[in-house]
Amino acid sequence: MKAVVDRETCTGCTLCTETCPDVFEMDGDVASVKVAVVPDSAADARREAMAACPVEAISIEAD
Ligand code: SF4
Repeated sequence: MKAVVDRETCTGCTLCTETCPDVFEMDGDVASVKVAVVPDSAADARREAMAACPVEAISIEAD
């Protein structure tokens, strides 16, 4: 699966990059996804980051 950050919605709180640094990184003032495909090893952390995002800026897409 792929993770997507809506850059218009993201507030740059850094929660996702702290929760799941294997997938998310800061790109200036907003978060971005640093991997083309979320590895299975990061799936749980990605789910946690998605749930933690206060503005629901993270979504997932099928491969
Ligand atoms: S948790 Fe949500 S609002 Fe915070 S940096 Fe990540 S995508 Fe942006």
